[in-house]
Amino acid sequence: MRYTDVSDQLDEVLVTEEQLLARLEELAREVERDYAGTEVLLVGVLKGAVMVMADFSRALRDSVQMDWMAVSSYGNGTQSTGVVRILKDLDTDINGRHVLLVEDIIDTGLTLSWLRENLMSRGALSVKILAALRKPDAVVADIVPDYLGFDIPNKFVVGYGLDYAERFRHLRDVAVLSPHVYAKGE
Ligand code: 5GP
Repeated sequence: MRYTDVSDQLDEVLVTEEQLLARLEELAREVERDYAGTEVLLVGVLKGAVMVMADFSRALRDSVQMDWMAVSSYGNGTQSTGVVRILKDLDTDINGRHVLLVEDIIDTGLTLSWLRENLMSRGALSVKILAALRKPDAVVADIVPDYLGFDIPNKFVVGYGLDYAERFRHLRDVAVLSPHVYAKGE
């Protein structure tokens, strides 16, 4: 871990920046092939998907458009509540558009399952999902990403866009947050 000032708050690195970038390149080739001749709108889910959106969109050779939504499902805790609130809506009318939802992580899948329904109800022609990371509980909500970076164990992770109480998003790698950090509510 290259961030020495927080190294005592992190356990092991699960996925490195190099692994993420290499995998996103592979996924970009798949997306180019699957959407050949079709205009796709990438929809990023703020704030966690900022890094994956930046890296994935730049790995694409075909031009795309981008828009953002912000939803809240976790607050400052580490457990999914299943409650989704739209904090910032799309600027784009997605009626008749092919949408690729770009997400940081699928835990229970409740957020994405809700989002996919929400976008389909606005008349999107298709809504597919790209997620950088997936945890084992994703099977519960029956969410199968069309494009997946890595499966990780059921641990609370930070970095590469993922936060704990708005911290750690800037870390380049995905690392496990030491339980003592959220036990103390630091
Ligand atoms: P889900 O609805 O799939 O249970 O939760 C999805 C959202 O919860 C993610 O977009 C992310 O914001 C948050 N989340 C789930 N697991 C983690 C984790 O391990 N670390 C962090 N920082 N956020 C997580």
